[in-house]
Amino acid sequence: MKTIALTNQKGGVGKTTTTINVGAGLAKLGKKVLLIDLDPQANLTYSLRTHSHRLEKTIYHALRGQVNVDDVIVKHNGFDFIPSSLELSGAELELASEPARESLLKNVMKQLEGKDYDYVLIDCPPNLGLLTLNAFTAVKEVFIVLQSEYLALHGLSKLLDLIKVVQQRLNNKLEVGGIICTLYDSRKNLNKEVVGHIKDYFGNKVFKTIIRDNVALAEAPSHHKTIFEYDGNSSGAHDYFELAKEVKNGH
Ligand code: ADP
Ligand code: MG
Repeated sequence: MKTIALTNQKGGVGKTTTTINVGAGLAKLGKKVLLIDLDPQANLTYSLRTHSHRLEKTIYHALRGQVNVDDVIVKHNGFDFIPSSLELSGAELELASEPARESLLKNVMKQLEGKDYDYVLIDCPPNLGLLTLNAFTAVKEVFIVLQSEYLALHGLSKLLDLIKVVQQRLNNKLEVGGIICTLYDSRKNLNKEVVGHIKDYFGNKVFKTIIRDNVALAEAPSHHKTIFEYDGNSSGAHDYFELAKEVKNGH
């Protein structure tokens, strides 16, 4: 079971879009996939389900130990996910007083052993708080998602520092498994330059597939569909399928 947290403390860089569509791409490649929505904003959840669809139990209840993981796994077309809800925003405070507060997700994920998932992808919130710390403690790999824009690398040292601290104190198996460049607009010279800087900085950790700016990717969530369900011929579907292959085969 490969466990991967998709992260960046900035919002709007494409974490949720990437978690859903790399996950769906891996499922198309025959892998058994589970996505975990660890963001209280629950964008992943509502990109796959309507608000009216009542989700009684979420990752929040699993983290609090109130339910088993089986009670929170929801099925989509070809893969599974664990939903989030706004309640999780209170969790940072509530959970802060629990013993081993950084290992709560790790404990939930122990219950996944024997379920045959090939990939568990975690969509992190846009900050470096307790939930992100739980993700880094629970996984083997972090994928950093970067928007191909000015200041993409700005503030990244804080994220890399947190990864180092977790490696030293909580999870010595943790590594940065890959860098994903998203929202790439080839008409903008600056985008090329930024991707160049990202490659200079991270070398061969950067996935070769770069996710282009594509309106279908922005539209699919309001239809509660992955890009493959919404528009299989879009450049977004092409890019995410290529990226999923790279994730599967290693880079
Ligand atoms: P994050 O999870 O990092 O906050 P999202 O995945 O929610 O970022 O993406 C932010 C916004 O940009 C969303 O409205 C999403 O639909 C849109 N978006 C993400 N990737 C692309 C892309 N490659 N092309 C066009 N729009 C995108
Ligand atoms: Mg998000």
